[in-house]
Amino acid sequence: MPRFINMFLVMMLVVASTSFLGCATDEVQELADVVLTNGKVVTVDDALPEAQAIAIRGDRIIAVGTNEEITALVGELTSTIDLAGRLALPGFIEGHGHYTSLGRSKTILDLTQVESWDEIVVMVADAVQSAFPDQWIEGRGWHQEKWNEVPPGSVEGVPTHTTLSAVSNNNPVVLGHASGHAAFVNAYALELAGINNQTPDPPGGTIVRDADGSATGLLRENADGLVYRVVEKEKAQLSEAEKWNEFSHQVELAGEEALSKGVTTFHDAGASFATIDGFKQLADEGRLPVRLYVMVRSESNVSMDDALPSYRMIGYGGNHLTVRSIKRQIDGALGSHGAWLLEPYEDMPSSTGLWVEEPDDIETTAQLAAKHGFQLNTHAIGDRANREVLDIYERTFPEGAGGQMRWRIEHAQHVHPDDVRRFADLGVIASMQGVHATSDAPWVYARLGVKRAESGAYLWRSLIEAGVMVTNGTDTPVEDVSPISSLYSSVVRQDRDGNEFFPGQRMTRLEALQSYTINNAYAAFEEDIKGSITVGKLADITVLDRDIMTVPEAEIARAQVDMTIVGGEIRFERGSR
Ligand SMILES: [Zn+2]
Repeated sequence: MPRFINMFLVMMLVVASTSFLGCATDEVQELADVVLTNGKVVTVDDALPEAQAIAIRGDRIIAVGTNEEITALVGELTSTIDLAGRLALPGFIEGHGHYTSLGRSKTILDLTQVESWDEIVVMVADAVQSAFPDQWIEGRGWHQEKWNEVPPGSVEGVPTHTTLSAVSNNNPVVLGHASGHAAFVNAYALELAGINNQTPDPPGGTIVRDADGSATGLLRENADGLVYRVVEKEKAQLSEAEKWNEFSHQVELAGEEALSKGVTTFHDAGASFATIDGFKQLADEGRLPVRLYVMVRSESNVSMDDALPSYRMIGYGGNHLTVRSIKRQIDGALGSHGAWLLEPYEDMPSSTGLWVEEPDDIETTAQLAAKHGFQLNTHAIGDRANREVLDIYERTFPEGAGGQMRWRIEHAQHVHPDDVRRFADLGVIASMQGVHATSDAPWVYARLGVKRAESGAYLWRSLIEAGVMVTNGTDTPVEDVSPISSLYSSVVRQDRDGNEFFPGQRMTRLEALQSYTINNAYAAFEEDIKGSITVGKLADITVLDRDIMTVPEAEIARAQVDMTIVGGEIRFERGSR
């Protein structure tokens, strides 16, 4: 019965969309350009939760149903994709990532999978081979907790730069920590940054030193700026053409990476007006590989008040670029004791963390956002940070109308139980990252203790049950952009070693899938064109090699993306690159 109803709606749409030329022949004219058949289609649409086949015309879905129903729309010019039993899902929407940073991360050493310090030294030595003298060697993503041993002679769990400097005499090296809150550099980079035994720590940063007072190479928090400023200065000397090539290359690389992981839309958590200008130009040239929903970032309140109206874009470039939100950040990260808490840290009783962007300034942004009809998406990790942001939102929302604004809290990682209800009452979206629970679990116990971890950390289940819209993502390049690993974490909620992490807060598989599709679409005001396989919506579809809705839990993580379709076009196919 539901299938019949759906086909009926399709016919109505066909009739409605082909003007008034008469009925019988119109059905024939509305043939599909592409059909996907013989699959299991999980639509994330309650009206027809499952189907076998999909028909696409132009960039839209024109029918969803049984093989027979869809085959009826096949004509001579229709191309047929045989799913051969595989799973077709609505294209994944990355709910919070950093788009150009993802592209940039592909051009520098990827240290995220490294298991020892020696491995890093070997990778840098290799990079030196193909670098010209004085060229910077950059890397990112190392984490000493992922190494299988503490290197001998370490200071604060990290070695001194000696072995690294020995393989990179003529090249400055800077390797960013996975948290983004520290960097490790070699002797040449220390020299270029003018760091010696007499250099004082900059405000908010530490030059880590050995017993003799020499810099070890580890630069914590703001101290890494001493080196990154030198790198930036060199980059600023590039010509406009060189800068444009670098930017468009990053956009392309980020797109390739996202598409290979099944992502068809990407919520970019922060771009300046200048970067948005670049995206717009690429959209005009048809060169945005995935659809972008971009949050305005790094602009002053004065400049936003002036320019927001001219940057508002909804579905620009064939639904490839949307700008209708602003990103702010009230606190730091838990790992670096930068999250703003209501009570002191368990492992640092002298501190409750602190805000990083002034709450009053964020409140001014909130008023501007409301004035210009923009969403406000504010990064908040600690429970104090979340409460302060809820307070700001509540003061800004028109009485009882917060839900229509769809404002978001990015991460919403540690929330006081009393505030769960407030998310629901105010209609604030919890823009969370499933995979963070897996990668951060070890910190959470240390920083918060078991009791607070249980009552407040990653409250997916509590929030969903309270009626809060919970979205999903990876914060890439902090994590791999793969929705599969985040979905897996959302469903199993285990740390890297397989230990359960308050499993009572797990999502069901369907909830996890919704969080990655229709909920992310809602969080961008795009649920009418994205987020489910529904007639009339954009034909953004991801095909997996196995059915993650039914395979044993452990197998979810091994699912592979076979095909990524954006607007009816295959943009990624496994094995064809
Ligand atoms: Zn982020």
